[in-house]
Amino acid sequence: MIHVQNVQEIESRYTSGAYSKRPLTIIRGDGCTLWDDEGNAYLDATSGQGVALLGYSHPAVIQAINTQAAQLMTCPEIFYNDQRATLYSTLATILPSEINHFFLCNSGTEAIEGALKVARLLTNRPEIIAIKRGFHGRTMGALSLTWNKKYREPFSGWGIDVEHVTLNDLAAVQAAITDQTAAVVIEVVQGEGGVYPADMTYLQELRALCDASGVLLVVDEIQTGFGRTGAWFAFEHAGILPDIIALGKGIGGGMPMGAVAWRGEPIARGTHGSTFGGNPLACAAAIATIHTLRDENLPSLAKEKGTWLMSELNRRQLPNVREIRGMGLMIGLELRERVTPILQRLQEIGVLALPAGLNVLRLLPPLTISYDELHRLANAIEEATHA
Ligand SMILES: *Cc1c(COP(=O)(O)O)cnc(C)c1O
Repeated sequence: MIHVQNVQEIESRYTSGAYSKRPLTIIRGDGCTLWDDEGNAYLDATSGQGVALLGYSHPAVIQAINTQAAQLMTCPEIFYNDQRATLYSTLATILPSEINHFFLCNSGTEAIEGALKVARLLTNRPEIIAIKRGFHGRTMGALSLTWNKKYREPFSGWGIDVEHVTLNDLAAVQAAITDQTAAVVIEVVQGEGGVYPADMTYLQELRALCDASGVLLVVDEIQTGFGRTGAWFAFEHAGILPDIIALGKGIGGGMPMGAVAWRGEPIARGTHGSTFGGNPLACAAAIATIHTLRDENLPSLAKEKGTWLMSELNRRQLPNVREIRGMGLMIGLELRERVTPILQRLQEIGVLALPAGLNVLRLLPPLTISYDELHRLANAIEEATHA
């Protein structure tokens, strides 16, 4: 056994170098609380980067994983499996009925890779339009769509043919579309990019423009999906039907998982695949997660709680906060200063939150957060931004 005191030293010695980390060793979670190795408790507004929609250690997810681990953990898609079939039918109950095909994978970026391949196969066109400030992942295809040059430029020239256009500018999309455009890829609320919601009328007009041009509309619901924004999926707020939907983060209740969902034709045999994709363990966790989200009415509670928290934060008229944006429990506070010291101060008073760019404080608490905890979160933000 490694002595727990050495965690940061060992991780730092062997790290890939890819991550900048906070000097905090998290060893346990329950509900919306995380504990470090010294026994300090933190109110969590990160959900582990938007993953833990049900908080940590939710009994329904634990039970599903334990039961399935004892039954069957791995089963590639050369065979059929009961958990996979159950997950498909469960997903079908929360997605529009037109969505009739799924590809299961293991992360968000893989869902975007899958979405790109599906778009290519369904249209036979090679070009993609993506949105400035958008974030879609770190593998080569998804990275080509991701806007931030810091992530993208060191690998430029290896990606796919992407044109980036400004959010909420329909004419820019219109100008970018050619007869070789396969798809427009968009987040309904940009997450990493700074918590910028798209205009709902823009999304409706974008849908119509795509229809008129034979271009597919790919909605990245990796961060916004499964109730985060106060609906099962954020595209519902605009009343639009995407052609392809990328899913990830919260889908597995903490188990690594992603999925591509689309309407129309299936893709041809042999055009895509994944060893771990659709494994019974992740499927069982996802089924339990979706059932719990539904049974506890969490998508609409996320709307109520998010509305409450936004108005509570607005009411306090925090002098260092320029703007508060978001939908449901996906909230960004644009600060008049850098976010890093604020995150540090929040941590000192027992609250963990996320950045989104240099000056946006991003809140992605578990959807199960209580009003008492929301109050504590608002108090902590007031204190940390006043200092
Ligand atoms: C996190 C995220 C991704 C990438 O997901 P990973 O699981 O980290 O690969 C893609 N798109 C959006 C909108 C995300 O928030």
